[in-house]
Amino acid sequence: MLEPLYQVTEVCGYCETEFRTSKVRSSFKKAAHTDTDFYCKFKTVNPDFYVVAVCPFCGYAFTENFSSGLSPEFRTRFELTVRKNWQGVDYGKERSWEEALKTYKLALLCAQIKQEKERVVAGLLHHIAWLHREKGDVEQEKRFLQLALEEYIKVYEREGIHVNNARLMYLLGELNRRLGRYNEAVRWFARVVNDKTIMDSAMIRASRDQWAAARENMQEEQASE
Ligand SMILES: [Zn+2]
Repeated sequence: MLEPLYQVTEVCGYCETEFRTSKVRSSFKKAAHTDTDFYCKFKTVNPDFYVVAVCPFCGYAFTENFSSGLSPEFRTRFELTVRKNWQGVDYGKERSWEEALKTYKLALLCAQIKQEKERVVAGLLHHIAWLHREKGDVEQEKRFLQLALEEYIKVYEREGIHVNNARLMYLLGELNRRLGRYNEAVRWFARVVNDKTIMDSAMIRASRDQWAAARENMQEEQASE
């Protein structure tokens, strides 16, 4: 029988050593359910567990979204914060939830000391929130959704309003809604719906739906007061 995992070779951006890491075969990537903030629940293995590659020799953790090239400043900081204390753990085989979380936290640390693009940092934080959602840990999920939201706002402020940012604006609305800031959520959804230059019909529809959901959330909140 075909195993869900297969191994690929990666080259560490820091120490340049080759190492093996696991990926999930596409035939096993079957989403059972997708949440309104794009979190996918998978039927068997979770491909998200294998997004981060971790060099077993130095601890440098990265995803395919990381920029290549490491500055001398990064090298010094990485050496002191990660490499010096690295225990040589190999995350190349099957990963438990706990191990997957560790790989994301390592990638987040590397991205932060590398001053990686806000979009990359936001994506890692959002994935960490999803891991906690999977476990049903609402408190940790909200903590990381909040951090992801702050990074997505920086992305928006840097990139400005582009037609292709409808998905980002929708996400800013939806994360605000999930954090209970309904007025803020509605403002973002309204921008997607009312902006005539936005052509992304899927995001316009999603924004309409979640705008209605936010209104319902507000009414429920008022009713319970
Ligand atoms: Zn390395």
